[in-house]
Amino acid sequence: MKPVRKLGVWRSSGLRVLASLLVLTVVTISWVPVRAVSGASVKSPRVEDLSPAPDSVVPFGGASLGLHALTSPKAPVVGMAATPDGKGYWLVASDGGIFSFGDARFFGSEGGTQLVAPAVGMAATPNGDGYWLVFGTLRPLAGKIVGIDPGHNGLNYTAPQIINQSVWNGQQDEACDTTGTETDSGYTEAQYNFNVATYLEADLEAEGAKVVMTRPNNSGIGPCITTRAAIINDAHADVAVDIHADGGPADGRGFAVLEPVADGPNNAVIASSAAFATIMRNTFLADTGIPVSTYDGVDGLQPRDNLAGLNLTTGAKVLIECGNMRNASDAAILVTPAFQKSAAAAMAQAITIYLTGQTAPTS
Ligand code: ZN
Repeated sequence: MKPVRKLGVWRSSGLRVLASLLVLTVVTISWVPVRAVSGASVKSPRVEDLSPAPDSVVPFGGASLGLHALTSPKAPVVGMAATPDGKGYWLVASDGGIFSFGDARFFGSEGGTQLVAPAVGMAATPNGDGYWLVFGTLRPLAGKIVGIDPGHNGLNYTAPQIINQSVWNGQQDEACDTTGTETDSGYTEAQYNFNVATYLEADLEAEGAKVVMTRPNNSGIGPCITTRAAIINDAHADVAVDIHADGGPADGRGFAVLEPVADGPNNAVIASSAAFATIMRNTFLADTGIPVSTYDGVDGLQPRDNLAGLNLTTGAKVLIECGNMRNASDAAILVTPAFQKSAAAAMAQAITIYLTGQTAPTS
């Protein structure tokens, strides 16, 4: 038992409710399978704060149980139900995971399963021996597979003997991989690419897509560009994006979407990739605020026949150079989490538009 602490005052429906004398109780998490529990540890909210903590439960009136908050759950909390005696409750997250508190028993969850529709609420049986979960509308990307290739890798610079190997990119010999570029202050493109890819993965999974990434972190070497293309081809991705940032001339700025040129292996996906490229250009321009490139392509679009990721693809794919890391204006925004999230959101929107046939914003 923790000492009793005074919480603060909220105004509710015109009533001034004093939520005080809260006792922090023992908390258990029940979540099956284990995968879904990472990042969902339980902490005590900062009771000094006047506003409720994120993902927290705050009792009012006769409710005796609380105060609980979840630390960065993998999915938003969308509902709760209480035991009949009020000595326990369950929280449900949109991914179907269940958190049990107090005397509430765990009876099962959908946490960790690939859901085609999000959980939207729950209710408990009158005697507390079970509960129902409610699942909502079909997610827009349910059943779709999306490939994400975050260009380069964080430790490529340590292994020139590996990344300098020659590979056949479908048109010519090319290096297995490169280190990528960086800003003048040393923020690496490999890190930028991986950050955006991670945000994009989360955005797409929230829409129900299955995501295939070509590398799991930013602390490895490679894989070769040919392997990256094969990973996405072998997964039969419905659409894919290679994420990069450019090392262009210091006085040039902006983003460009690179699209494949027919070379045999990719012949069947030239038209679909071009359509996807236009959608990507339009959403990226509309959503991120970064201009189209002043030095690469025409209106932000550039066909390329010398990149393995585009030459070897058997699914619709583009490569986006999100900005110029060697330009001071671009570099200043590329390194910010806010821009990286917005870049990922724009890509997710483009992917959703492409895969669902929604109307694209016009440029
Ligand atoms: Zn790159």
